[in-house]
Amino acid sequence: MNFKDLSLEEIVLKLKNKEIKKEEVFTYFIERIKKYDSKIQSYNFVNENWLNTIEGTLYWLPIAVKDIFCEVGVPTTCSSKILDWFKPPFNATVIENLVQAWASSLWKVTMDEFAMWSTNESSAFKKAINPWWTSRIPWGSSGWSAAAVAAWLAPAALWTDTWGSIRQPASMCNIVGFKPSYGRNSRYWVMAMASSLDCPWTLTKTVKDSAILYEIMNWYDVKENTSLPWKDIINPEIWNKKDLKWYKIWVPKEYFEEWLDEGVRNRIEEAIMKLQELWAEIKEVSLPMTKYAIATYYIIMPAEVSTNLSRYDWLRFWHVSNENYDSMDELFINNRSEWFWDEAKRRIMLWSYVLSAWFYDAYFKKATQIRTLIIDDFNKAFEEVDAIVSPVSPNVAWKSWEKIDDPVKMYLSDAYTIPASLAWLPGISVPAWFAESEDSEKEMLPVWLHIITPRLTEERLFEIAYVYEQATKFAEKMAPGFED
Ligand code: GLN
Repeated sequence: MNFKDLSLEEIVLKLKNKEIKKEEVFTYFIERIKKYDSKIQSYNFVNENWLNTIEGTLYWLPIAVKDIFCEVGVPTTCSSKILDWFKPPFNATVIENLVQAWASSLWKVTMDEFAMWSTNESSAFKKAINPWWTSRIPWGSSGWSAAAVAAWLAPAALWTDTWGSIRQPASMCNIVGFKPSYGRNSRYWVMAMASSLDCPWTLTKTVKDSAILYEIMNWYDVKENTSLPWKDIINPEIWNKKDLKWYKIWVPKEYFEEWLDEGVRNRIEEAIMKLQELWAEIKEVSLPMTKYAIATYYIIMPAEVSTNLSRYDWLRFWHVSNENYDSMDELFINNRSEWFWDEAKRRIMLWSYVLSAWFYDAYFKKATQIRTLIIDDFNKAFEEVDAIVSPVSPNVAWKSWEKIDDPVKMYLSDAYTIPASLAWLPGISVPAWFAESEDSEKEMLPVWLHIITPRLTEERLFEIAYVYEQATKFAEKMAPGFED
């Protein structure tokens, strides 16, 4: 049977009604991985022993898992040489939740090292390829998973979004990327990048598929003190909605500056008109603190990253990079210099500085104060409106290796996803058709609409995204070359 026209929801329903067998589904995806993975290079390795798992709500549905979620005995490396084939002694809680819902893990999809970088160059394993145009990147840090779902090498992928790592690659690959409010999900045994921002979540083909996995995975975890102490259930009535009467939706004018590519701007304006046709009330507004979001983020996030990365020294795996050392400090320096990629080192150095006793008040403390003002901006806005929409990124997918020498330009491309992450808000990216790249190639690439709602209003987010998705059906198109 060919499952390519089905969504995760439809496959699960067929499994439930015993119209198809679990072996068929698993073999189908394994066969596709064998056939196509060499083209997009997503998986580090694949689990073919799926029958060991028990049965449940997802009926053994296979799911691709980012190399950041610990699974007992399964090599989990954050795609870094410094964790060289580390086998965790515990399962991440989100993995436990999926296993209890009887999903089976297809195992490890590669990622940018420790989930940082945008151009998919920092994995210790391989570079990523966008299934829409193989000369282009699917974006960081979860491009490999977005490519896997877009090429239908998995019906869903489990990922983390710190400030865009789900929403951006989903958009570049024309699938749905969802990030819940911070705290909806446990971060227990998910390798930490920036602890006050990390949100584990999913990449799927449709909005409803994201909501199905959301209901399974959002759960209080006694082992993780930022997880929220209740479960969120989505009202199934929202799937009957056909319009957005009388939702008030804001378009912040700061998100439409001149550095937004022309093609992306046109598609987003069309998407906003579509929302209007669906009876949403559209208003242009201002979120004045937006201009400080990138600077704030690039102080808070790397400060947390450098703290989290301080635990890796390679020693506990019995490796010593260079036998010639006179002190423990020198040994750590040798190991960390040799086994971290450039960006990890850059962030460790710069942001150890912002946390140092002399500069803490000037940088880190100031950034946390501005973060509060950004949260206030959103709180004020949401007193008057129900949702905010924006582009996900100012540009379409870059060509492979295009921006490696320009980290600042790369950091700027995160401008639209950062504010929601700093304010712990839920966000989703949904396809908004294609635009021409601004380089000489003039290739047509996916563009996306970013929807943000107030903290803990995932149901509303799903409703708006679902109505828009049903009215446009843009995600139904499959990446060329992977259709059979
Ligand atoms: N592009 C971001 C970076 O460079 C990705 C962050 C994330 O959400 N993991 O670090």
